Amino acid sequence: MITEDTKVLVDKGIMLPLMEEFYTIQGEGFYKGTAAYFIRIGGCDVGCHWCDVKESWDATMHPPTHIGKIVENAVSYSDTIVITGGEPLTWDMTILTETLKTQGCKVHIETSGAYKLTGVWDWICLSPKKMKLPTEEICAVANELKVIVYNAHDLIFAEEQAARVNENCILYLQPEWSKRDKVVPMIVDYVMKNPKWKVSLQTHKYLNIP
Ligand code: SF4
Repeated sequence: MITEDTKVLVDKGIMLPLMEEFYTIQGEGFYKGTAAYFIRIGGCDVGCHWCDVKESWDATMHPPTHIGKIVENAVSYSDTIVITGGEPLTWDMTILTETLKTQGCKVHIETSGAYKLTGVWDWICLSPKKMKLPTEEICAVANELKVIVYNAHDLIFAEEQAARVNENCILYLQPEWSKRDKVVPMIVDYVMKNPKWKVSLQTHKYLNIP
């Protein structure tokens, strides 16, 4: 049972519902292959049917944790920190990211971009979802656009989102894991015909690491 006092601290971003944290290799996108400490924050109501972290959705299942403790753990492992979820922008990321920055960390986010952008970021990976589209605000500053491809229609969606992001944003198509056998040939063919896109794979799953 979460007290009212704790709820206030979570609302302010002084505590956050921490689902898990782990040191691993970033498997996807621009920083694939890079050692990084992942902080997975609970809470997401975007509702992707293929979501592979559905257990993150209900924030009340994850203990509100003081950001001082989260930062202390993170900096003992790495100076590259990836904030993921769930949907981390469900919460105010200002205090967590500012505190990590004061410790000299590079702070990355993986987000659907559906909610107000808070926090200070060295890298924004925008992975837009059809159910809740990203805001104009985040399209203007995203460093990479990573569209998950589950079926052919997602390529149309990818182009719609590519038209919204800033000109420096790097464009990735990534197969949804359960459909990879069917989707990879489609993505390979599409990227060769449309080389502004790059292929991203969930290499951590091939490596059998978190
Ligand atoms: S936005 Fe991410 S965490 Fe939320 S449902 Fe979609 S894939 Fe899952």
